[in-house]
Amino acid sequence: MRSPYSNIPLTLQQILREVFGYDQFRGPQQAIVEHMVAGRDALVLMPTGGGKSLCYQIPAIARQQAGHGVTIVVSPLIALMHDQVGALHEAGVSAAFLNSTLSGEEAYQIEQRMLRGDITLLYAAPERLTTPRFLALLDTLFSQGKLSMFAIDEAHCVSQWGHDFRPDYRALTVLHERFPGVPRMALTATADALTRDDILERLQLEGARAFVSSFDRPNIRYTIVEKRDSTQQLLRFIEREHEGEAGVVYCQSRRKVEDMAQTLVDAGINALPYHAGLDHALRQKHQNRFLREDGIVMVATIAFGMGIDKPDVRFVAHLDMPKNIEGYYQETGRAGRDGLPAEAWMGYGLQDVVNQRRMIDESPAGEEFKQIMRGKLDALLGLAEAIDCRRVRLLGYFGEASQPCGNCDNCLHPPAVWDGTDAARKLLSTIYRIQQMSGVSFGAGHVMDIVRGKTTEKTTQYGHEALSTFGVGSTFSELQLRGVLRQLIAIGAVRVDGQAFNTLQLTEQSRAVLRGEVAVQLRDSVVGKEHKPKRSARMGAIVKAPIALDSEALLRYSALKAWRAEVAQQHNLPAYVIFHDATLAAIAQRAPRSLDDLQGISGIGAKKLEAYAHEVLRVITLG
Ligand code: ADP
Ligand code: ZN
Repeated sequence: MRSPYSNIPLTLQQILREVFGYDQFRGPQQAIVEHMVAGRDALVLMPTGGGKSLCYQIPAIARQQAGHGVTIVVSPLIALMHDQVGALHEAGVSAAFLNSTLSGEEAYQIEQRMLRGDITLLYAAPERLTTPRFLALLDTLFSQGKLSMFAIDEAHCVSQWGHDFRPDYRALTVLHERFPGVPRMALTATADALTRDDILERLQLEGARAFVSSFDRPNIRYTIVEKRDSTQQLLRFIEREHEGEAGVVYCQSRRKVEDMAQTLVDAGINALPYHAGLDHALRQKHQNRFLREDGIVMVATIAFGMGIDKPDVRFVAHLDMPKNIEGYYQETGRAGRDGLPAEAWMGYGLQDVVNQRRMIDESPAGEEFKQIMRGKLDALLGLAEAIDCRRVRLLGYFGEASQPCGNCDNCLHPPAVWDGTDAARKLLSTIYRIQQMSGVSFGAGHVMDIVRGKTTEKTTQYGHEALSTFGVGSTFSELQLRGVLRQLIAIGAVRVDGQAFNTLQLTEQSRAVLRGEVAVQLRDSVVGKEHKPKRSARMGAIVKAPIALDSEALLRYSALKAWRAEVAQQHNLPAYVIFHDATLAAIAQRAPRSLDDLQGISGIGAKKLEAYAHEVLRVITLG
């Protein structure tokens, strides 16, 4: 498809309005776009949902108009290229992808179109890009001055500190060696300093200007709860807050993904499993359904999600703790890309801490690497145990100062706090005394039994009832002691030894706590109410609009959604690629009677107006 604008040069502002239907650039978008149009290099750090795509799509269109030729977009996500290109087609932009899903003949046709200057944006996977055949094609374009720009998406894949390391990304240095002077931009939503420096170094982008946006996602509400019966807690969360809405539930193991998906289905929730162990075709099918249908809950391992740009995911839940804050932030960032209210919910417990520690300890990596991973895990534990604003902590981790947000669990319901210092000292001295007496260490359960004075086979077998600390903490519940232990692990005053049956060990920091120099503040554990399914609410489809609509407008909104589903199916594209929910809701509210009434609604560019206005007006009048 050829851009209808290819012979009338548009200003950047016009491209934004005419092609994408948006009135204003968001945050640093304009500065980035201008920088790229001027032919410079850039590193763009923007949170998921921040609007990275326009940062390369608009310069690509502008530079193509100016005669610079094709922009190459490097993306690791073959499965999503089809939809990304489809979205550009819907907006009237000439785009294509080259990947292993195409036949030789199809690939050849696309190469020919590139040579004819017929393509504005070409998406390719890194392994494709560095093949001799593709490099030869780029050589030809380069020699004609028709190689406009490289956009390297998900650039953190180049770094082993990131969580999606892909060795193929390392080979991308060939781009600037072989095509000097062609502007390059690297984009990512991962932004801790370590990964950032690694990206600059690995891609040899040292001279690039870094555009670092605020990492805040104000529309996402963060909640982290202590796990009790995590299945019931999750069901309650979904049924109370997100009935009928699209969401992602992350679990650590494939097995748990399968079980949890089944549990949700049994509870009447439209859930599907996704993990790397499923047959490729089935995985693809589930992903497509998630993208294309309304209100599906995807239960998945972290194999699912990178680049999923579905804008109306209303919640992301973690049933197991991720490895680090980058992972957590990236995964939760998949909620609410459309800017409407969304939730990030995580259940977390002592077992998570123990498991994650063990995974690090047992990994074959070098000691330096493990040390870094432990530090990252500690930061996440600190977040989970926090009694102050979660967002302040999250942003602080990315080097951003902020004020309490008013939109996280701790801000909304400040937790009751109790002083766990005494309990902490009792736990620590017990660990010390066991070590003294038996010469070996024990796990959390046994240590807690001793503190609480609970006689077991094991306490008798090892003679631990004779320890002076046996029963010193009989007034504490196991729940309370678990909380204290987690906190001690989080602040590094206790180490879990994964090499030795997850036994608890003292550390340098233990001493400060034992001496009473460090106070241990804990959130009070309030046991939640039992889960009762709200059966009535599940009857029939509920239409929830992203803005408040009166009943007439709500009818129009439903009619528009039904129409959109049909169009999306005909075009074999996700519904949001046709129009976002927010755009449909704005149309429903305005109840347009003419083309003029449709002008200026956010998300309707010239091409979409031309293609769909007539239909939209018809649906509105019938509705
Ligand atoms: P990212 O790749 O950074 O996660 P996207 O590029 O997918 O984010 O953009 C997120 C959403 O925001 C998309 O639905 C996009 O259409 C929308 N968007 C981007 N820029 C703007 C803008 N200037 N005005 C309105 N919506 C925008
Ligand atoms: Zn807060």
